Amino acid sequence: MTGIGGTYYDGRSSRPQAVDVQCVGGSLLVRGEHVDRTDPLEQIVPSAPLAGVPFTLRYADGARLQVPNGSPVGQWFPGQHRLENRVDRWERRGGIAAAAVLVMALALVVLFGWGVPAAADYGAMHLPQAVDRAIGKQSLALLRSHWLAPSTLPKARRAELQKRFHDFVIRTGDPDALQLEFYQSKALGANAFSLGGGTIVVTDAMVRALPDDDAFLAVAAHEMGHQRYRHMLRMVLRGSGVALVASILIGDVSGSTLATAVPVFLLNAHYSRGFEQQADSFAFAALVRSGISPMAFVRAMRALEKAHPELHDDASVRYLSTHPVTEERIVRAQAAAQQFERQRLAGKNTSSLARDSHLPHQN
Ligand SMILES: [Zn+2]
Repeated sequence: MTGIGGTYYDGRSSRPQAVDVQCVGGSLLVRGEHVDRTDPLEQIVPSAPLAGVPFTLRYADGARLQVPNGSPVGQWFPGQHRLENRVDRWERRGGIAAAAVLVMALALVVLFGWGVPAAADYGAMHLPQAVDRAIGKQSLALLRSHWLAPSTLPKARRAELQKRFHDFVIRTGDPDALQLEFYQSKALGANAFSLGGGTIVVTDAMVRALPDDDAFLAVAAHEMGHQRYRHMLRMVLRGSGVALVASILIGDVSGSTLATAVPVFLLNAHYSRGFEQQADSFAFAALVRSGISPMAFVRAMRALEKAHPELHDDASVRYLSTHPVTEERIVRAQAAAQQFERQRLAGKNTSSLARDSHLPHQN
């Protein structure tokens, strides 16, 4: 005979018998020294085809036949083994398959659309101050080693802005320990951002692009808002995936992992619309508290938009890519400015009407 070589077990003893296997007219022929049987294929149950595992055929009387994996015997039983049958049945019942896909998709949406951001926010807001400060320190060190160079602004100008910022923070009544630092940066262009622990970084190009000191304070105030609500940390965590969020929640966090994500965020991502709105509201309120019209914010944004408009995607005004300026933000600032003016007018009218016969206009 010229069939396929196999090993036969008769089901009564464990003695293997070398046999020759053939398929003739829908029947399986097995011939050997002590065996000679012919059975219809449908009465034989084949095993699932698994890589590296011999293919086994089981007879109803307990006998077994093994043939080498990959031999053509498997093709004589298309879709007849049990697992295939079951999957086949599931597939035929389209409802079950569709429901399974839907459940899986919903689970992913809940986890990544709501679960991860919510857990990231919770983790970021409940992170101890010391850890937040450590992350800020590490990300600043990393930024200084690659992207930030010492400021080239005149020392007197820096001192002047430091003093204005210091007075501003005191007037706003903000208790956070904030630190303002100036750097020159080719990669980050005209930019301002806040790092964990209270450090606000402003680049030389940003200082030069802003039209006046109140506009500078408006940008700084917006960063104070991001600082207050830990927006940078929350953005970085939201983008980091489940593992890092989980490690934050169980208090096993490596600051350096988060610190390395900060430059990536500054160069590639942007704050969510909600975070920008929250930082804006914080800024408008802080400006008003210190007697500055929120129009200063509008002047700052307009100046940044005008600075090299053709290069907005480039490093020149990087700030606009992390903080997209929308008409909605401008309108909100204008509304806050109008309210500020109304309150100021009301205050002046009752207290010192005689002294202020004319009011300065803000453009
Ligand atoms: Zn922002």
